[in-house]
Amino acid sequence: MSNPSLLILPGDGIGPEVMAEVRRIIDWYGDKRGLKFDVSEDLVGGCAYDAHGTPLHDDTMAKAQEVDAVLLGAVGGPKYDALDFSLKPERGLLRLRKEMDLYANLRPAQCFDALAEFSSLKTDVVAGLDIMIVRELTSGIYFGEPRGIIEEGNERVGINTQRYTESEIDRVARSAFELAMRRDKKLCSMEKANVMESGVLWREVVTEVSKDYPEVELSHMYADAGAMQLTRWPKQFDVIVTDNLFGDLLSDLAAMLTGSLGMLPSASLGAPMANGRPKALYEPVHGSAPDIAGQGKANPIACILSFAMALRYSFDAGDEADRLEAAVNAVLANGLRTADLLGQEGVEPVSTAEMGDAVLSALDASL
Ligand code: NAD
Repeated sequence: MSNPSLLILPGDGIGPEVMAEVRRIIDWYGDKRGLKFDVSEDLVGGCAYDAHGTPLHDDTMAKAQEVDAVLLGAVGGPKYDALDFSLKPERGLLRLRKEMDLYANLRPAQCFDALAEFSSLKTDVVAGLDIMIVRELTSGIYFGEPRGIIEEGNERVGINTQRYTESEIDRVARSAFELAMRRDKKLCSMEKANVMESGVLWREVVTEVSKDYPEVELSHMYADAGAMQLTRWPKQFDVIVTDNLFGDLLSDLAAMLTGSLGMLPSASLGAPMANGRPKALYEPVHGSAPDIAGQGKANPIACILSFAMALRYSFDAGDEADRLEAAVNAVLANGLRTADLLGQEGVEPVSTAEMGDAVLSALDASL
């Protein structure tokens, strides 16, 4: 059987710097765990524009459709600010998400013990936190028609439309139930069924899908109450599923419970391919960080944890994902910090590569 395939798109700014550390970890899995990948690398974002005059070449798009998973660094930078909207680096990423039809965005909020003190909440509220928000990514108010700014009488009106079909709700709900089955079998669905018809339908369809997952304990919550509960006692949740707009807000809120942007991974999943694996794009939540690019200061952990998600959700290697996350935990527990994680006086920050070295040593120690 051929090795699973992985397309790596480092992108711009700190993207290539953090991805270099992930490549070393991918090599480690090949050498030490016999987990070999067919890795190819290509351009996306500003670097693709520089090379081809487009932020995503058609050939790269075609490759992304064929591989088992795509791992992306970050795109963008001030050099490209003046470009036409259609040529901006971010359009490359949006095209990938759209053409791969990645409708389920997975955003974990996981608190590493050593970083619990960084949270704006009390340590006991966040220590050990491990929740997953599944946000619908390809429909809802960001895409619904009609939209625009129109003249009405003697003033302008801004219009956006929240619109969800049953099948759009059904498929993202199934992704969330599947995830819940692999975790604590607890799913909370959030909408505003009290004031929005799309929320009423959302609740009905999620309840209907739940009949196929009798082992999962399903609850429903209004999204505004959900925001309060997430800050009051986030550990009551395991998996949360919600629409595009509420998911945008709630996933940022939940992620920030646990610390720095440099720590946050994400996955965007689509429909299962012929081999049963979902179409998948893994990427850190952060951008290209032009303010620190090229200085060896970037925290590679968000990108490393994105690869851990790929191991778990695309390559059926949950044990190896656990190993990688435990290695990151061990490194942080030893006190290693990139500059973005510094709080205490007198702690010297480590570089991107030194953080990568430490994770590799912790992986070695795990054998
Ligand atoms: P950003 O995430 O790049 O940076 C925000 C702040 O967080 C900066 O101070 C940065 O130094 C810091 N930071 C981010 N990641 C870090 C890491 N791994 N280690 C240490 N510090 C880190 O957001 P921004 O400054 O608003 O945007 C910069 C560029 O990135 C823009 O062109 C924007 O469009 C683009 N962007 C891309 C993505 C993506 O590729 N998915 C996401 C957001 C922004």
